[in-house]
Amino acid sequence: MAGTNKTFDAVVIGAGFSGMHMLKSLRDKLGLNVRVYESGDTVGGTWYWNRYPGARCDSDAYIYCFTWDKQLLQDWNWTERYPEQPEILRYLEHVAERHDLKRNMQFNTRVIGAEFDETTDMWRVHTDKGDDVTARYLITAVGSLSTTNIPHFEGLETFQGKWCHTSRFPRGGIDFTGKRVAVVGTGATAVQAIPEIAQQAKQLTVFQRTANYCVPARNGKVDPEVVRARKADYDGVIDRIRKSFFGFEYGFIEKSALEVTTEEREREFDRMWDAGGFAFWLANYQDMFFIQEANDLCADYIKRKIRKTVKDPVVAEKLIPKGYAYGTKRQPLDTNYYETFNKDNVLLVDATIDGPIERISGRGIQAGGKEYEFDIIVFATGFDAMTGPLKALNLKGRGGRTLDEQWVHGPQTYLGISVAGFPNLFTLTGPQSPSVLSNMPVSIEQHVEWVTDCIAKMREAGKTTIEATGEAQEKWVAHVNEVVSGTLMPGANSWYMSANIAGKPRAFLPYLCPEGVGGYRRKCDEVAANGYEGFALA
Ligand code: NAP
Repeated sequence: MAGTNKTFDAVVIGAGFSGMHMLKSLRDKLGLNVRVYESGDTVGGTWYWNRYPGARCDSDAYIYCFTWDKQLLQDWNWTERYPEQPEILRYLEHVAERHDLKRNMQFNTRVIGAEFDETTDMWRVHTDKGDDVTARYLITAVGSLSTTNIPHFEGLETFQGKWCHTSRFPRGGIDFTGKRVAVVGTGATAVQAIPEIAQQAKQLTVFQRTANYCVPARNGKVDPEVVRARKADYDGVIDRIRKSFFGFEYGFIEKSALEVTTEEREREFDRMWDAGGFAFWLANYQDMFFIQEANDLCADYIKRKIRKTVKDPVVAEKLIPKGYAYGTKRQPLDTNYYETFNKDNVLLVDATIDGPIERISGRGIQAGGKEYEFDIIVFATGFDAMTGPLKALNLKGRGGRTLDEQWVHGPQTYLGISVAGFPNLFTLTGPQSPSVLSNMPVSIEQHVEWVTDCIAKMREAGKTTIEATGEAQEKWVAHVNEVVSGTLMPGANSWYMSANIAGKPRAFLPYLCPEGVGGYRRKCDEVAANGYEGFALA
């Protein structure tokens, strides 16, 4: 199949959740001839690549799945509240087989470039396997967190042990038994991996640049009665998550954290803490993301929990987040994370207290003037989020313009799904859409449905191209930035703010819709109902 020069109605890049659904929808609803290119050797996307120890879903599984296969919602039984990576991958493989998706997918194939041909109004797409194909529509389903960030550490090439990044973990894993291991980073990935690695390693040293606010995941078996009730009411569940703020079955407490009594607030905090998962982050007092004093109360609660859990007060102090508001970085979910620092074989090296990483040596890591020796270094250093995977595609729009040129000061999109000057390009869960600020499958399904509907309407109306206008894009970018400037989010050096990558222009990457994902869905539907307002159709 590789090395072809065929013409397709649509090329989809990526075979994760979004690429799989996009293919299913365009092929089986609209009857289009679709080709999916995927660099991995099977479906899965994020769940194919992220196979580090402890990798599991952070959303409750009953809403972290496809909702368009109603029968499968009834038939599939998740083993736990947050299934592990292999189980999610098995689910996606099962979906691929059940819907015969692989026959339109080409694996082990990376898209290395694509340009819009203004004479034919077609995209020409090139792969590393020599394919040179054309397609009317180009749809990126490349994920928001798929371009690995390995910071430039001087001397890495001299390290004599093994090293890897969590999102490129070797298949079959790494045996840490009896080894001296370093984990660099303390984001959501590291928070999952550290307790697992600590159980095996002889000595684990964690290099922390910024302490995180972690809340308990509370994973476990789900009560069969709860499972039965959810299955009996899946239509209700789907309706609620689609209309919700963040794609979950909960919303903010409609009060200020500052207006209630201390007793009431503690009761609510305890309730959310005990419930586990994202409740503390995404269903807290409504002013938590906006008012520093309200936020401080939430932060203080977590800090008290850290001090109570971590036995050594010096280590506890290192783990206390400082200098940014709670919730403005992605919430990591903790299963024995803080407890792990009570173990004798675990050491925490904090950049601000012990000194930052200076270089990698042949034997290990030098930080704060001291050399730490390791057999294995695991980089849990995150991703060039959202814009990285799109820029890596080397797309050229009208006049040969690239996204690099267009996005010098940060992403510029319309609705997070299209880019002016790039006709018939759809960016599923792209920058400036809610995407990573929501339960991903909810946002993926909304984009896939919108794109399918758009293409169907274009074909009915005999239109060949759709393209965001520069004016609509400018307004959208201004709107995205204005909304976030009213929150505490810009104060954090988060990947949401593009702050994790040296030299990346500081810009907020997702879209925090003031009416949540439900409101964003309405906005996109209104645009369509108004004849694709803000787009030029030809
Ligand atoms: P991340 O949140 O970007 O964390 C990277 C960590 O590496 C941070 O602690 C960061 O410190 C540190 N770091 C980066 N560059 C460094 C450098 N040059 N020197 C020292 N430390 C450095 O990445 P992640 O943990 O992989 O998570 C990324 C996202 O993936 C999450 O936010 C989440 O959206 C997603 N995720 C989802 C799940 C799930 O749902 N199951 C699980 C894991 C991750 P700073 O904080 O100082 O930048």
